[in-house]
Formats: sequence, structure tokens, C-alpha cells
Amino acid sequence: MAKIQMKTPLVEMDGDEMTRVIWQQIKDIVLSPFVDLKTEYFDLSLVNRDATDDRVTVESALRTKELGVAVKCATITPNAQRMEEYTLKKMWKSPNGTIRAILDGTVFRAPILVDGITPYVSCWKKPITIARHAYGDVYRDSEMYVPGEALAELVVTFPDGTTKRQEIHRFDGPGILLGMHNTDRSIEAFARSCFTYALDIKQDLWFATKDTISKTYDHRFKDIFQEVFDSDFASRFAEAGISYFYTLIDDVVARIMRSEGGILWACKNYDGDVMSDMVASACGSLAMMTSVLVSPDGKYEYEAAHGTVTRHYYKYLKGEKTSTNPMATLFAWSGALKKRGQLDQLPELVAFAERLEIASIQVIEDGIVTGDLAVLLEDREKTVVNTEGFLQAIADKLNEL
Ligand code: NAP
Ligand code: MG
Repeated sequence: MAKIQMKTPLVEMDGDEMTRVIWQQIKDIVLSPFVDLKTEYFDLSLVNRDATDDRVTVESALRTKELGVAVKCATITPNAQRMEEYTLKKMWKSPNGTIRAILDGTVFRAPILVDGITPYVSCWKKPITIARHAYGDVYRDSEMYVPGEALAELVVTFPDGTTKRQEIHRFDGPGILLGMHNTDRSIEAFARSCFTYALDIKQDLWFATKDTISKTYDHRFKDIFQEVFDSDFASRFAEAGISYFYTLIDDVVARIMRSEGGILWACKNYDGDVMSDMVASACGSLAMMTSVLVSPDGKYEYEAAHGTVTRHYYKYLKGEKTSTNPMATLFAWSGALKKRGQLDQLPELVAFAERLEIASIQVIEDGIVTGDLAVLLEDREKTVVNTEGFLQAIADKLNEL
């Protein structure tokens, strides 16, 4: 069978530990036999980030801006222990943070749903995708403990030296205080990424804040979303048959719990932190969460939501075969190939990416699973296989489809 041809290469960002091993297995077993893979390879392993003073991360992100689509393997974010383990020159920043800052993007996370793994919320039939605003609010705040009686004020100093002040609270005893911010620019980029991605996956977009209480701060989010929607997206949403819906955060939570899913849910930074963990744990496994970074001008970086699965890697180094779940990493590849196929008008490549996803879901539904899914999959006979065996079963299924 002739291999499927590509036009533009994907930006390929290789990573660390167990996911690096799986990365190669995915390419060897389920991609290369079917597709004449074209990629521009960047080695984002911690060893190479250290050797290049982290330039490789920056270069891979800049190349993604040019080519439009990247696929990324999980990478180690160094801490003190990793500094020692890898004798690093410096505690390099999180690659995901660096890439996100360069692309100015928003991260969208969605679970892969499989028949037989029932979400704990039983009405959820379709994936709920969470978009988390990844800038500001309580994550970039300034906090203070007030030891006793005091007047707390907000003070803003303008470039001409004039100031604006506003009372926060007159303390008559000890207490706490916090100042936080966001910027129109960041909120607008977030809004554009959300509207762009909703059109992409043809799902309704829901957004919520607490603007009834936070009449300036949260209200600004609401207004910017509405302005961006009205000026640039309303007619495209109508054409695509999807809608944009704004409500209050407590109302949206109640609605999500009663919904059947299939919604893109945009969240402010803190809400997104909390709600993505809720959706992920309700759907069973971190190994089944996909993640994509979308820039406001429509550049895409696909990856798994989980890390480098260190515990499994240490077993692998001892020569053991591990049963690490490659689904999220595989879906990063299929997502990237599908997007590349759409942009380059290669229907065969799009169809392959879709078949790959269907085949891998069918393999699980047939009861062939990695260890983590064995406990979750209900009502059928199960065979637990190692990662290679699982990928081979997908390749076999692809040949049947
Ligand atoms: P992790 O790699 O996500 O793994 C945590 C645990 O979750 C694993 O030990 C495993 O549980 C389970 N798990 C996660 N993915 C799995 C998979 N595909 N198949 C089966 N089980 C899976 O998180 P971590 O151990 O906290 O972090 C390890 C490294 O990853 C860190 O250096 C961190 O910096 C990095 N990290 C990178 C990213 C990224 O690049 N996007 C994200 C998060 C963390 P059991 O051990 O019980 O089997
Ligand atoms: Mg969290």
C-alpha cells in the first residue's frame, strides 16, 4: 500500500523519559507504516535543553509560528532534584510556559471517551473541553498580611505622576490583603483563541465569570468576550451552527453537571485550574486527557496532558516492559496530522488521522488495554498488554479498517 504523503512538515518536539520511549514507538508502529512522515525535529529533552541553554525550546516555538502545527512530547520541568539528577547548568523554565508565552496561546483539554469507561457524571456522553486562561489573576497576585489596625488602599500611578486611589478596607485588627490584575490584551487573546477553537471543533462555547459581584474586574472579561464575538465571530458561528453563551460561574457549573457534554467551556485562570481537574478525574484517567495550545491567530501545538511518567521510566531502565498508556500522546499526533491535513487540503491525511483515533478507541473497546485502564473498563473480558502490544493491536486494527 502506498504511504500517505504530506506537504508541510509538522514541528516535532521530542521530550523526556517514558513518553520519549513511547514517542518513538508510536512513530515506528502506527505512523510510519502508513504515512510518509514529514517533520522538523526539535529535541526538547532536558539534556538537550541544557546543552543549548534552552534555545531549542524557543526555536521550536518560533518555527511553530511559521509552520502552524506542532506536536509535543511531555518534558521534564526541572526542580532541585532534577538539577542534581541531570547536573544542569540552570533550573530551566517549564518548556510549556516558554512555548505558551511565545505563541500567546490558550490550552484546551479534553478527555478521550470510550464505551465501557463511564464518567462518574453519568449524563456526560460527549467530551467537555476546558479552556483555561493562563495569565494573571491570583497566579500573579501581590499579597500582604496586615498585622493590625490599618487603612488599605488601591493606588495607581500614571506615567505623568498623577495617582488614583481607592479605599479597600479599614482594618480594626489583623487581616489579609491581595492585589491582582489582568490585561485587555491577554483577555482578548484568550477570547480569540476560544472562539477560533470552538469553530474548529464545531462546539458551542460557554464562558462564565462572577460579574454580578466583580462589577469592574470580571465584567471586563464579559465585555471583551462579547466585543470580540460581535466584531469577528458572530457570523462565522451562525454559519457553523454553533453558539456563544455567557452566564455566571455558579450557573455554568450547575448546567455542566446536567449536560451531556460536547461543550467548549472557557474558564478564568483559577476556575480553569479547578474545573479541569474535576473533568479529568470524573472521566477516569490522566492518561486519557488530550491537550492543545491554540494561539489567537490560529497556530496549534498538540500534546498529552500528563507528564513524562517517571515511575514507569525507572522500571523501563531496569529492563522491564511497561504498560504505559500511549493514548493521549497518540491523540496529540492524530490531532496534529488532522490539522496539517486540513490546512494543506490533504483529505487522505485527515482520514488517516480519524481512522487512527477510531482504531485506538476500538482496541480498548475490544478489551485490549494498558494497566491503568484495566480497572476502569467495565462489562467485558480484558487483556492487559504492554505499550508495544497495545500499539501493535492498533496497527492491526488500522489495517482492517
Ligand atoms: P505524570 O508523568 O503525569 O505521572 C503521574 C502518574 O500518573 C504516573 O506515575 C502514573 O501512575 C499515572 N500516569 C500518567 N500518565 C500515564 C500514562 N500515560 N499511562 C499510565 N499511567 C499514567 O506526572 P509526574 O510523575 O508528577 O511528573 C513526571 C514529570 O513530568 C515531571 O518531571 C514533570 O515536570 C513532568 N510533567 C510534564 C508535563 C508536560 O510536559 N506537559 C506535564 C506534567 C508533568 P502510576 O505510577 O500509579 O502508574
Ligand atoms: Mg490544578
